[in-house]
Amino acid sequence: MIFYKLIVSSLFLVLISKIVATEKGNDLKEIGWDQIVTNPSITKHFASDVEEIRKTDLEQVISDFHAFFGGGYSHSIFVTGASSTAYQPLLSTAASIFGYTPQLGSYLSSVGIDANDPKDPQFVIFIEKESMDGHEHQLAVFAHEYYHIYQNAPLLDQPESAKPYTWVMEGAAALIETLYVKSTPNNYPYKQENLGDLLALTKDYYDQYPDFNFGTEQETHEGINPEGMQNYNLATVAMTYLCHLTNFRKALWPDWYSLAYNNGFAPAFTEHFGMSKSQFYNNFNNFIRYNSKETILKIEPKTYQLDYLLAEPDLDDNDSDGLCNYDEIVRYGTSISSTDSDTDGFSDGREVELGLNPSGTISSFENSEYVAFSWKKLPDFGSYFEELSPWYYHQGMGWFYSSNLDISDFWFYLPDFGWCWSNHVIFPYIYENSKENWLFFNETSEDTFYRYGEKTWTPVD
Ligand SMILES: [Zn+2]
Repeated sequence: MIFYKLIVSSLFLVLISKIVATEKGNDLKEIGWDQIVTNPSITKHFASDVEEIRKTDLEQVISDFHAFFGGGYSHSIFVTGASSTAYQPLLSTAASIFGYTPQLGSYLSSVGIDANDPKDPQFVIFIEKESMDGHEHQLAVFAHEYYHIYQNAPLLDQPESAKPYTWVMEGAAALIETLYVKSTPNNYPYKQENLGDLLALTKDYYDQYPDFNFGTEQETHEGINPEGMQNYNLATVAMTYLCHLTNFRKALWPDWYSLAYNNGFAPAFTEHFGMSKSQFYNNFNNFIRYNSKETILKIEPKTYQLDYLLAEPDLDDNDSDGLCNYDEIVRYGTSISSTDSDTDGFSDGREVELGLNPSGTISSFENSEYVAFSWKKLPDFGSYFEELSPWYYHQGMGWFYSSNLDISDFWFYLPDFGWCWSNHVIFPYIYENSKENWLFFNETSEDTFYRYGEKTWTPVD
């Protein structure tokens, strides 16, 4: 009987707290608290041992984020510093707002409702109570925690089903911090991995744990860092991939979380990104598992300018090369005023269509890798012997003559074909000048040339 009573009363409590939460949420919505305002009121509390430079950092993050997002939310920030006697008064102040004393973790941001005025939600950021020595990446910590404010604002007192997954919350915050620190001039040696390192690390992780699949386990705080992984690294890479599939604005501008209020987070994810979460997980796992590291690294954005990344994507195509300005700047690193950014004779749009690299670092014989005794190797061309230049010996094609040896505009003489032209993008396709005909060099154990005009194969002598 007592057991029965307990169940009833706990159910009752759940019901009551739900009603209270929903009412509070509605109140907050009514006062427009989930909307960004241009002049939020911000109260900063610093422990007496917090250095000036950290205060300056915080000011910079606040003003930058307000600029990116067009404003912010009213909140309190507590920077607790190192010594407990210095931060104790801050905890008392926080307790007077919340009605309880918050527990300090290393870095923590949370949302609380002012116990005295439930219509006045308080964001609170506590930063690191341990020694500050060695923490040169305060800018990153501030950016990460400050972004959580923007994520949490549309979520105040929403039902549990509306809460974004942990990998979404932390992956986005960690990605923002990385982008922000890289795009903001600062004197800190940033200790966390950059995005390129994280992408490479993720590929290694999948190689090391062939049974691992990113997915529902990473939706909770307990599973966000699977065995052998830390610092929300996988979540950050998953978020980067989501940005790659859609765009940075769509994935990182957190107002889309409010879609989840009535229907829950999973349906909101599907609606916002046009794919279900499980489709995304599959897509992401396949992308990492079945691509080379080189391909995976290409999803790192080519710009770290947060104001550009967070702006609505610029879909104009200034140079009419088939790639919109956003894609040129963010995805490919090509010029928006040149149709052929790497001057290889193919327009940027055409190269993307063909799966080529439109911003290919121009391959050059000067960058050839030394193999052994007058033998060198150029990845786009193959191995060649240079001792008797301007005559060279190519491992597959045999002897050729070239006076300029310029792979981006490569004129060379083959004894059996005469003057020929090619470049690093189209090689092993070769233009045979005298016959105005294309050749294809088939590099196999029996090296041969295919002459398209005559549909014949010619062996290399
Ligand atoms: Zn976080």
